[in-house]
Amino acid sequence: MKYNSFQTPERRLLGAGPTNLYPEISKSLTKPEVGHLDPKFVEMMDEVKSMLRYLFQTKNEFTIAISAPGSAGMEASFVNLVEPGDKVIVCVNGLFGGRMVENVERIGGEAIVVNDEWGDPVSLDKLEDALKKNPDTSVVAFVHAETSTGVRSDAKEIAEIAKKYDCLVIADTVTSFTGIPVLTDEWGLDAVYSGSQKCLSCVPGLSPLTFSDKAIEKIKKRDSKIQSWFLDQTLVLDYWSGQGKRSYHHTAPINSIFALHEALRLACDETLENLWKRHFDAHLRLKKGLDEMSFDFVVEKQYRLPQMNSIHIPDGYDDFEIRTKLLNDYNLEIGAGLGKFAGKIWRIGLMGYNARNESVDYCLDSLKNVLNK
Ligand SMILES: *Cc1c(COP(=O)(O)O)cnc(C)c1O
Repeated sequence: MKYNSFQTPERRLLGAGPTNLYPEISKSLTKPEVGHLDPKFVEMMDEVKSMLRYLFQTKNEFTIAISAPGSAGMEASFVNLVEPGDKVIVCVNGLFGGRMVENVERIGGEAIVVNDEWGDPVSLDKLEDALKKNPDTSVVAFVHAETSTGVRSDAKEIAEIAKKYDCLVIADTVTSFTGIPVLTDEWGLDAVYSGSQKCLSCVPGLSPLTFSDKAIEKIKKRDSKIQSWFLDQTLVLDYWSGQGKRSYHHTAPINSIFALHEALRLACDETLENLWKRHFDAHLRLKKGLDEMSFDFVVEKQYRLPQMNSIHIPDGYDDFEIRTKLLNDYNLEIGAGLGKFAGKIWRIGLMGYNARNESVDYCLDSLKNVLNK
């Protein structure tokens, strides 16, 4: 049996990530290989750290990219900051909040769940009630941009309430990072993670992560050993530390880090303010078109994520059939509903490279044609 090289179809990726790559990022993947302890590679890693600090808006010394996707950033935050028996309040208003609960329980922590309806933001009152009832809580965790529903929660207020009760704050910013403001230091977030394939439009498989000094203190004071060897951040501190001396922990995914460096460079060059504006402008253009086709948004206006637009599937249309037509006839991928929203909503992602007029117009035209609107 002889196999042919895989022929990639040229899709337009307007789902929940991955997105289409910036052309510069595609090019960066084919750079010649170097050793992951090569001084030139190490220099580049230092730039990765400093660019991540700007994009996370933090001075945190511990700011790195985990060699695994966003889910690993989530798991790293929990395994490092939660010990067996610790009480953790998890705000759940969608699929990814549910995964946080899984993480806490697998560690042997006690998860106190603050539930909100899918499509609603995290309720600040419910969070405060839960903290009043459980003043011995050590961590509050929430998803800033819930990709499964397209809702933005108020990270600043959540962190402020958590701090009143002396809790560390874990924030999932996988979809918010560089698409809407993520102000790590100003808001007082202690563990913040993201993913490479959402608003950075980089290849999947890397998870930017930053820990505050308070988070590092907690890790150093732990009684129990961190359950995961790979995600034990005390072991990679040496590798990422800027002191020049690197020791082997695991082989870095070198080419993916070339791509990440390029993605971060492009983001820094464009500046956060311009990135936020570009995502918002793309959203407004999409919204105008969707309004004209009488689509209803799932999320109330003030909580909508510009980079993740959830709309109800109109009566009389079959979810799978329409998405299959979009893919086959227009090479267009949009996101399906997840969990309790499966078959009920579509999620149109305008992330990074795709947050521009041309992608929006292509999406609207394709939808119009397929729905005969
Ligand atoms: C995509 C996503 C994740 C998981 O990231 P992967 O790279 O798929 O592991 C976690 N949280 C949120 C909010 C996400 O959108």
